[in-house]
Amino acid sequence: MLSFAPLNSAAGSGEEIPSVIRVAISRNTNQFKLVTSAKVYALEVKTGQKYMLLERSIYEVKYVNPTHLAVAGETLESPVKLLAADGGDCVKINGHFYKGDLYMKTTAAEKLEVIEHLSVEDYLCGVLPVEMSPDWPLEALKAQAVASRTYALKNIDPKKDYDITDGVETQVYNGASGMNSRIIDAVRSTRGEVLKYKEKLITAFFHACCGGHTASASSAWGEDVIKPLYGVRDPFCSDSIHSSWEYYATARDLLSFIQKKGSSALKIKGVRISERDRSGRALKLKFATDAGSFTAAAAELRKNFGTYDIKSTFITRITPGSGGYEFYGRGWGHGVGMCQEGAKHMALNGKNYKKILRQYYPGTSIGDVND
Ligand SMILES: [Zn+2]
Repeated sequence: MLSFAPLNSAAGSGEEIPSVIRVAISRNTNQFKLVTSAKVYALEVKTGQKYMLLERSIYEVKYVNPTHLAVAGETLESPVKLLAADGGDCVKINGHFYKGDLYMKTTAAEKLEVIEHLSVEDYLCGVLPVEMSPDWPLEALKAQAVASRTYALKNIDPKKDYDITDGVETQVYNGASGMNSRIIDAVRSTRGEVLKYKEKLITAFFHACCGGHTASASSAWGEDVIKPLYGVRDPFCSDSIHSSWEYYATARDLLSFIQKKGSSALKIKGVRISERDRSGRALKLKFATDAGSFTAAAAELRKNFGTYDIKSTFITRITPGSGGYEFYGRGWGHGVGMCQEGAKHMALNGKNYKKILRQYYPGTSIGDVND
């Protein structure tokens, strides 16, 4: 049977939630492996020509030319839709299972991409287990569901090839893997609920731990500051293991960093924080060198050393050591929006998800997306 499922099929109840999100689950690649767990049809969308892929098999998918791709050596016209024969978990790509409608296509940049179309609610069930631990308190998971739903819907843009990616640059999504009943409960019990400010969806950023004060979206990325993303004091995450960090950077690595940024120095004589934002995060660092002083953005330093080593720009002090400098800081992540460690603490202390969201996105209203 050849038929296209209606795009909002997974939403179920027929209510008017912007029902479908298009997630890029593979991009900028010349080839990838497709693993089937059940029988799958590869359908040329334009011609209706259908090819059968066997269950529990591995197929190589390759870019051929701007209009064609190859599956197991067979050339097919792009785009190609993958149809599950039984409607269950059927296709595995890059180690993850996907339940939505999958489209493989060639791009103008002569690459392949795979886009999954699925309901926003199903998508959230795949985001929550990776963006917040599934065993965290239910009210924290519900706060995350509302934040992630708002963030996702804010990204929907029919003019683009897809709405959102599946990586850390937006919010991480690993398909249908990792779902459990608590995740489903958190998504269902907040179904359709979003955060709005002045009637508009907000970009509901979130992060692991703020270290005592959330950051302003303005100092993090130069975004227009609206009240909910201005940054708030957070007394709730101080017990978190991420509330403070230390990192020892060698003088040699620091020198190489400032040289990359344009300094002609051959020796670093000292480093200090020369500018902070309202939340206390470092904006600029000043290096004293044999070639005079050199200023670099704290965000660039973090990017250079890695976000797992310099966990935030909330650098509180820098002390000289033998052959390097010890950096002390607070929190983990960009610091904008909801602090997940604080949300967990609030939930453990009996606060509900609405209270949590009001703490981290002050001034927003929580309501149905269609209201
Ligand atoms: Zn916090």
